Amino acid sequence: MGDVIPFAKKIKPPVLKGNTLCKRGFHRWEVIKDQQFDVKQGQLITVYKCTRCGLTKNEAR
Ligand SMILES: [Zn+2]
Repeated sequence: MGDVIPFAKKIKPPVLKGNTLCKRGFHRWEVIKDQQFDVKQGQLITVYKCTRCGLTKNEAR
């Protein structure tokens, strides 16, 4: 007991260029689906996707 094995270094995931902007909340939104009907919200929404990090968001029209 007490033996700490130091080989387990944290492996950082590869950060894509320009992704720092995304981390700060500046995403590059692109409309991937215009006027999709959201059943949950019961209204038409627009689906956006960030071209850099791949995050998606919905916006009610
Ligand atoms: Zn992004």
